[in-house]
Amino acid sequence: MKPATFDYVVPRTVAEAVEALGDTGRKAQVLAGGQSLILEMHLQRIRPELVVDINRIPELDGMSVEGDELRVGALVRHAAFEEADAVPGPLGTLLSRAVVNIAHPPIRSRGTMAGSFGWAHPASEWCAIGVALDATVEVTGPDGARAIAAGDYFLGPYRTARRPQELITAVRLPLLGENTGVGFIEHRRTHFCFAQVAVAAALTVSDGVISDARIGLVNSADRPIRARAAERSLLGTEIGPLPAGPRLPDGHPFARAGRVAAQEDAEPVAEPYADVEYKRQAIAVLVGRTLRQATTDLRSRRAAHEGDRQ
Ligand SMILES: Cc1cc2nc3c(=O)[nH]c(=O)nc-3n(C[C@H](O)[C@H](O)[C@H](O)COP(=O)(O)OP(=O)(O)OC[C@H]3O[C@@H](n4cnc5c(N)ncnc54)[C@H](O)[C@@H]3O)c2cc1C
Repeated sequence: MKPATFDYVVPRTVAEAVEALGDTGRKAQVLAGGQSLILEMHLQRIRPELVVDINRIPELDGMSVEGDELRVGALVRHAAFEEADAVPGPLGTLLSRAVVNIAHPPIRSRGTMAGSFGWAHPASEWCAIGVALDATVEVTGPDGARAIAAGDYFLGPYRTARRPQELITAVRLPLLGENTGVGFIEHRRTHFCFAQVAVAAALTVSDGVISDARIGLVNSADRPIRARAAERSLLGTEIGPLPAGPRLPDGHPFARAGRVAAQEDAEPVAEPYADVEYKRQAIAVLVGRTLRQATTDLRSRRAAHEGDRQ
């Protein structure tokens, strides 16, 4: 199928883009990487009257560290996160572990992190990480700029708190401190499919006990969610030696957190090849494994730090 007819503009500044989007006489869509939009237009599931191509707006490109946050401009492609040292600290590790799960290299070299927030697919890796880490979505519209907390941003599948006339200019993520270990594990049918479920975790350990836990669930509800009950179950827990072998004993705090996430936090939606019960089982297992990965990450980070000091 071919897209329906549309007008096309290429603004050179954010102000020009916002002006084009504010032309409320026409249904407009922003074109960033085009990796979701163009497909949807070809299938005529989306029929914009105006396409606003933001790829020639230099102020939207690049990422920078600002205080204790990473600011990711709206034109930064997924591929920018493939090397763990592209971003400092544990956040860089988390983003590099997650990004290889997004589609395949040609899509990652065009698609953008901000575009994933614009599209708001429940199976988006970036969106679940954003919710887990309390990211901020920066938008600019006819009434000026505003910041939306990721926890308030996602309203349902493909539905967000962004107004149609607003442009996402950047996504801001906390860098995470050196006492934080991170993990990301995804489960999907074939290599390039969207996740059936995936889990992002960031565990902060102070004086030997978990002082902060963040768990983001991908494709485990009608939107990306944070597993708050599971997080609460971990606070104050002492992390001892990790059991050998892939399976965590049922009584282990990470296994318990997995069950809590699956039963209390997740609201899985059935899909072909993954009914609700299957997804709950996958979430329980993946949460436990991802917490284990985060612990190993923290321990190797600390060991490397000790090595540096000797
Ligand atoms: C085969 C295939 C497999 C894929 N697998 C995955 C996967 O596993 N995980 C995953 O997360 N994604 C996956 N994707 C989607 C891909 O990651 C897209 O790149 C992403 O969803 C959207 O980014 P984009 O920059 O391409 O946005 P576009 O396609 O250009 O836009 C998508 C939507 O977001 C809006 N938008 C984009 N940027 C902005 C902005 N700055 N301000 C306001 N609105 C904006 C657009 O108007 C549009 O509605 C896959 C895509 C394909 C084709």
